[in-house]
Amino acid sequence: MKHLSRLPVSLVLFSVFVAAAGAQSPTEARAAHAYDAAVKAGPLALHAFLDQFPKGADLHVHLSGAVYAETFIKDAAEDGLCIDPKALSFEKPPCADPLVPAAELSGVLTPAQQDLYDRLVDSFSMRSYVPTPGFSGHDQFFSTFDRFHGLSSNRHIGEWVDEIARRAAAQNQQYIELMETPPFSHAAKIAQKNLNFTDFAMYRNLLLSHGLKDEVAADRADVRGAEVARKQMEQCGPTQAMPGCDVTIRYIYQVLRGHSVQQVFAQTLLGFETVQAAMDAHDNTWVGINFVQPEDGFISMRDYTLQMKMLNYLHSVYPKVHISLHAGELAPGLVPPEGLRFHIRQAVDDGQAERVGHGVDVMYEDNAQALLKEMAQKHVMVEINLSSNEGILGIKGAEHPFPIYRTAHVPVALSTDDEGVSRIELTHEYVRAALDYHLSYQDLKQLARTGMEHNFLPGPSLWAAPDIFTLVVDACRGQLPDSDAPTASCKTFLDGSQKATAQWEQERRFRVFEAQFATPATEPRN
Ligand SMILES: [Zn+2]
Repeated sequence: MKHLSRLPVSLVLFSVFVAAAGAQSPTEARAAHAYDAAVKAGPLALHAFLDQFPKGADLHVHLSGAVYAETFIKDAAEDGLCIDPKALSFEKPPCADPLVPAAELSGVLTPAQQDLYDRLVDSFSMRSYVPTPGFSGHDQFFSTFDRFHGLSSNRHIGEWVDEIARRAAAQNQQYIELMETPPFSHAAKIAQKNLNFTDFAMYRNLLLSHGLKDEVAADRADVRGAEVARKQMEQCGPTQAMPGCDVTIRYIYQVLRGHSVQQVFAQTLLGFETVQAAMDAHDNTWVGINFVQPEDGFISMRDYTLQMKMLNYLHSVYPKVHISLHAGELAPGLVPPEGLRFHIRQAVDDGQAERVGHGVDVMYEDNAQALLKEMAQKHVMVEINLSSNEGILGIKGAEHPFPIYRTAHVPVALSTDDEGVSRIELTHEYVRAALDYHLSYQDLKQLARTGMEHNFLPGPSLWAAPDIFTLVVDACRGQLPDSDAPTASCKTFLDGSQKATAQWEQERRFRVFEAQFATPATEPRN
């Protein structure tokens, strides 16, 4: 109880009481008051206020999209890649004219090199991008990935994960689920050779008999290697650990949905096998599956229903592997109206999604109110990516269903999607949500706690009832849900649950954050 012991007994008792009742403690009320003042003062003051607000988790982050362009340009120089100054993309060596060695963009730059550098950063991101007729924000966003393609993932993956972890730590985030596509060339090859796709069970057996599991070891090693490398960079250990070390990272297996039925099935099967193997071995890396690539793409649209059925089947074989799905990342006009009617519902009902990414077109679905009700009842969380939705879909403000989800009691949390491509970070998304949707301090805590409640860490939640953050489980009841020294029964419970332990830590961070508002700050005189 080292921190608690400094608090007056009456305050501790009051806090225990209010934690159970869901009312505000005096410290929380003071933080809320400071938040209201920051909102009034404008976005800059609010950003500064929210910088160290304990944001908990970012549950929707793509590894390749979360790294900033500047890092990729530096890495291209290390890998000896070339730059195509017209296409503004990386190319393989040799760098014959007009290709420019990426290594030239290091050290002292001439004005022409600085110009090329600037244009490359723009090309790899949404920076400076203005949609034009025939090339939308959607087109720019998804083209970036091909332009910075060709870097050695093996060499840089640890550095990339470290960059993401360091950025998260700097904003008082403690947990990330990072989407990554590990090698699947063997799975794709045997899928193409075994085109006889009649039923799921038969095809699964066929792929397994052709050595599909052979790639599981490489896929597990992919993210294990990333974790080892980033922990070395962050000097993780009992002493001198860097802040990035405190950020827990788990991985979501990305399946590329825009390919043949056979390949998508094979890669999904490989994903389930990999995640299951990692979970069985308690290696703390892979925890779930997601489908990526533009949802409005030709194959994504054509095969959507079939792909959800594949997930339904594979979920029945591997029920412990978590599923989050990009669904409803669509807007009117992007696809025909019929295409807006069913993706989220099928992701939930057939795809067995525990979380939905984006969910932007929900109000265009058949019987939207019933769908919202179902999502609230099943506690299917929506990963809200406000900047990404504006950049790709042009959806923002009142056009975005974020407030509708909240009113319908569908759990929601803020995430970044592709912070490198969007040139944002999670604090930016909190500021944006707070101002665009007039959120209270309590609302922001609800969002941050929801992210921790719906992460895929193993173990039961700290909270007694799902998505109600006022009463902790029996084992920890009667004490502050942020104590440094939980009672024996509570400690036993926390030791058995990675999720509850992370939630406990989040509550501790709330306490530390709010304590700064306990006494009025003394302003320096000048
Ligand atoms: Zn995404």
